[in-house]
Amino acid sequence: MGADGTDSIIRKLKKVKTKEFDYEQTAIVSKINLNRAHEFISYERFTSEGSIAFLPLSGLQSGLVWSAPSVLAAEILSLPDELFLQRLQKQFGYRLGKFRGVRQRITYPLKSSSACLQGGKGWILVGNAAHTLHPIAAQGFNLGLRDVSFLSEVICDGLSLNKKLYENDLIARYSAGREGNQEKTQRFTHYLVSLFSQTYWPMKLARNGVSALIEYFPPLKHRIAKHAMGIS
Ligand SMILES: Cc1cc2nc3c(=O)[nH]c(=O)nc-3n(C[C@H](O)[C@H](O)[C@H](O)COP(=O)(O)OP(=O)(O)OC[C@H]3O[C@@H](n4cnc5c(N)ncnc54)[C@H](O)[C@@H]3O)c2cc1C
Repeated sequence: MGADGTDSIIRKLKKVKTKEFDYEQTAIVSKINLNRAHEFISYERFTSEGSIAFLPLSGLQSGLVWSAPSVLAAEILSLPDELFLQRLQKQFGYRLGKFRGVRQRITYPLKSSSACLQGGKGWILVGNAAHTLHPIAAQGFNLGLRDVSFLSEVICDGLSLNKKLYENDLIARYSAGREGNQEKTQRFTHYLVSLFSQTYWPMKLARNGVSALIEYFPPLKHRIAKHAMGIS
């Protein structure tokens, strides 16, 4: 089983081709020290300097994922801690209070990739080895979990019928069963990146209108959240 991430060695050994898309963006990842409790709320804000996501961690800390065009990300990354925090605060605002500190900053080049084949006799790819997504919709890990959940179902069914795990019909059932959800999630993620990368003002206006509608219409917000969690 190839569960060895985006640069999967198993995938390479099996000579599986991938379809790739380079967003020419970089994610800056770090931990931010807060001066008030995050109340276990995640935030994502789309700004003129890229998308900024905060994910609650233990104590007075939130995880930061700041995705920006690579040239801009390099500039932001080169700032000393104090100026970095000022820039972040200016872009994100004060929903999490005043930022007190930033830990080590790590970068990830953002690209999507999708394996042209996810399994064959005696091997299978799951998670990022099969598909890597832009983090804008926080779907990569969730999608991998759904792969593993369905694979375990296929394996249990196969074992109860005394089948060998490498039999082609089990692998075919897995691939067919996951294809739709993977494609839908990949398309949704790619669409969001395109939508939020637009700088043309009518697009920005429409985007802000849709965001406000989602924010102030809880049933729609819950529906989107359920869809994103894969439970709709
Ligand atoms: C900036 C950023 C933010 C993200 N935010 C979110 C989010 O909020 N929500 C979400 O759902 N997803 C998010 N993701 C995506 C998520 O991180 C990945 O989809 C997920 O980690 C993929 O899990 P994986 O186990 O398939 O691969 P990986 O996490 O890459 O794990 C692969 C593992 O295999 C190991 N490995 C590799 N080669 C070998 C080898 N030869 N032998 C042994 N071990 C090996 C590696 O060391 C690694 O531990 C984010 C991604 C990024 C880059």
